Amino acid sequence: MKNIILLGAPGSGKGTQSSKLIENSPYLHISTGNLLRSEISNKTELGLEIEKIMSSGGLVPDKLAFEVLKSNLDLSLNAYVFDGYPRNIEQAKYLDKILLGHDYIVIFLEINTEKLVERLKDRRVTSDGKHIYNLKTKPPLKDGFCDITGEKLLQREDDKEIVVRERMKIFNSNVEPLLDYYENINRLVRVDASRDLNFIFDELASFVKD
Ligand code: AMP
Repeated sequence: MKNIILLGAPGSGKGTQSSKLIENSPYLHISTGNLLRSEISNKTELGLEIEKIMSSGGLVPDKLAFEVLKSNLDLSLNAYVFDGYPRNIEQAKYLDKILLGHDYIVIFLEINTEKLVERLKDRRVTSDGKHIYNLKTKPPLKDGFCDITGEKLLQREDDKEIVVRERMKIFNSNVEPLLDYYENINRLVRVDASRDLNFIFDELASFVKD
């Protein structure tokens, strides 16, 4: 099975599509953002170190993101959907090393980033980040609560507008070299992520099948 790397701006649908891709499939989801947030909520030493960076919208140091990723992967047993990693060329090179000998495809969820600020304002998630809603386009059945776990939904600190703008700035400054890198090694496909999420999913599924 091909590993899948999802690239896209914050709010472009990486988490939502990851959840759909792992549903009834052997794929596992690996989100460095979720792993880092769980370090923060467990108040580990690492969590205390990174909380400030994450709440201001910055990227945690590459070495740290890589450690978190690597310690949660077993590529000899599983195929993964990578969500939020890599974020820059250095990370792409690290990832290439650990993916050596394993097939993978890189899918860029392409969308105008201005629209995303609006979208992220309405995003609500469970505390582990695994269930994602949008107050306008995908509201929960019971206002404020997750349909699946029943827990109270939260707004991520870094989904507030001022932080979102910083995250977009960082994304925009890193994305072009990352796309060039994957284009040059013929791994990249681009998907229009402004459409209905079910259409996007069907397209992703067709790429993963070949
Ligand atoms: P995400 O849940 O993917 O939107 O990530 C939330 C935040 O976690 C980011 O704004 C970064 O602060 C941090 N983060 C997640 N993945 C990475 C990564 N690959 N490299 C550096 N920081 C990351």
